[in-house]
Amino acid sequence: MASETTTAAPESAARLPAGPLGSSLGGGHVVLTDGLLGQWQRRNTDRTLPHAIDQVRASGVLDNFRRVAHATGEPFKGAYPFADTDAYKTLEAAAYELARAEAATETATETATVRAFYEETVALVAGAQAEDGYLSTYHQGTGARAAPWSDLAGGHELYNLGHLVQCALAAARQLGDGRLLAVARRFADLVVDRFGEHGRAEYCGHPQIEAALVELYRETGHEPYLRQAELFVERRGSGLFARAPFGPSYYADHAPLRDLDTVTGHAVRMVYLAAGATDVAIERGDTARIDHLLRLWDDMVHTKSYVTGGIGSRHSDEAFGDRYELPSERAYAETCAAIGTMQWGWRLFLATGSAAVLDHVERILYNGFAAGVGLDGTRFFYDNPLQRRPDHTDGRPADPAEPLRRPWFGCACCPPNATRWVSQLQDHVALAARDGLTIALLTAGRVRSAALSVDVVTDYPWDGRLTVRVLDADAAPATLTVRVPGWAAAPRVAIDGAPVDAAAPDGWLRLTRTWRPGQEVVLDLPMPARLVTSHPAVDATRGAVAAVRGPVVYCLEQADSPAPVDDVVVHAVDDAGEAPPSDSSDPVLRHALTAHVSWRPAPSDDPYPPADRTDPDRTDLPASSTTTQVALVPYHLWANREPGAMRVWLRHT
Ligand SMILES: [Zn+2]
Repeated sequence: MASETTTAAPESAARLPAGPLGSSLGGGHVVLTDGLLGQWQRRNTDRTLPHAIDQVRASGVLDNFRRVAHATGEPFKGAYPFADTDAYKTLEAAAYELARAEAATETATETATVRAFYEETVALVAGAQAEDGYLSTYHQGTGARAAPWSDLAGGHELYNLGHLVQCALAAARQLGDGRLLAVARRFADLVVDRFGEHGRAEYCGHPQIEAALVELYRETGHEPYLRQAELFVERRGSGLFARAPFGPSYYADHAPLRDLDTVTGHAVRMVYLAAGATDVAIERGDTARIDHLLRLWDDMVHTKSYVTGGIGSRHSDEAFGDRYELPSERAYAETCAAIGTMQWGWRLFLATGSAAVLDHVERILYNGFAAGVGLDGTRFFYDNPLQRRPDHTDGRPADPAEPLRRPWFGCACCPPNATRWVSQLQDHVALAARDGLTIALLTAGRVRSAALSVDVVTDYPWDGRLTVRVLDADAAPATLTVRVPGWAAAPRVAIDGAPVDAAAPDGWLRLTRTWRPGQEVVLDLPMPARLVTSHPAVDATRGAVAAVRGPVVYCLEQADSPAPVDDVVVHAVDDAGEAPPSDSSDPVLRHALTAHVSWRPAPSDDPYPPADRTDPDRTDLPASSTTTQVALVPYHLWANREPGAMRVWLRHT
């Protein structure tokens, strides 16, 4: 084995103890190459991160740190006490991108903007920290908007600390820069003093600190951080926010997490809490808690998730709805909720080895999350509906030419969250065990571990063929484990051209042998386009169908339909590639499916015509056109052309 592959420690965002399939490998060991995830990462480097840096500067977030660090006398800029986290998330992405550039030996000129932002912001953050370690610019300095710790429901100070810890860990692990970690620890120590075992039995209105403190414990070995995270999880539901605005479920405080049988309330808060609780349970070896969290996950996947993996079906309180309350056009499905769900799912997967959990993470990644970032990397969706009606204006003055995605938001949680998540996608691809390597996310990349190093060549998720080429291997037998997604019927596997048993009863294909450099494993996952229906209890989509291919969900945009999308009736779908107007040079249409459709307009403007379709005297039955073909495009690529109506769920024959 090459020495470089055996000694460096994994540098993952979540350095969990080894689970059934091993420990996650970080950026030192996984490099995304030219697949879709690698393309997203390049776009993140070239477009999204520089854009986020500009926006963080322009929105006054850095000025807020400057105001405290240098006592400028300026007022706090912005409306929200969590504005500091826009900088922390962007710093987190910057740490990853600078490390990647360093590894690729890019020149200092290429990274100068990112490096300048990083250095300036690190200095400002350190300069703004109070003597006692406290740091939340909304609450500090002359003209502070509120006193420290005066409003745990809405103040977000612990949430701010959580993001500070996460960007500090990224700086330490990716760049070997401990400056932010020193700042984060001082604040965390203050929090342990104030809210610890014998301190105030309180917690933050917005969970997030829990997972961060567990990760800080993993980095430092300082047990009080883990205990503090555990206390925050256990105290929740004690009624601290019983009379807070929006009611206790908004804060995930209506009941202890352990008593819930379904996820409820504000979607982002709930999944961040669940991710932190999973971290605590993993560190404590509490299998009963893991089982409970897995039941909550399964209930969410089966009753409260859109076909895109999005969660949160109510704009009111940005909340989960009831079971099966999943309206398409009013789907909230916040981009941050998609990220939080993937973070929770990744932890559950590591703890349990469940391939099904990862299948759902992948569904979110390629659909509910991916739609949140526009094709050019500088425009974003906060909410991700599955339908846009022709006359919908989002409450803004209708401007037919204005892009639907926004360059930033007044409440800017989502865009910097997206840039940090994409910057660390490689941390969620592969796991290493003593005797093997696990490929968790099927994507093009180079993966190095002690037992086995491979190149993965694939055009997944557009194509179901995955070629794993061995680069280097231990002399002893090793197991190459590859996830076979649940939708993949009849996969085929060959090693150096010879077919082998492709059985993957638990979603994992396991191939054990003494590997030699140059050997090739080819996994073929048949990926036909297909139509899916929804559970009959999902009233909003009853009787409708959606097109999927592999993990990708498709939609119909008005730009591709000669008739209004609401009139289109789908009869079948295929991937023959002849969909008009197919155009391989158009990135939106490049992976289009062909839908065989007719159109059937409403026969009258009677909103409630009689149900009896057998009456021979009725003249209002709809007439259909002849069958023709239209292109369905990947849902995550919608709204990159002229604004128009869109539907994921379409009428069926
Ligand atoms: Zn958000």
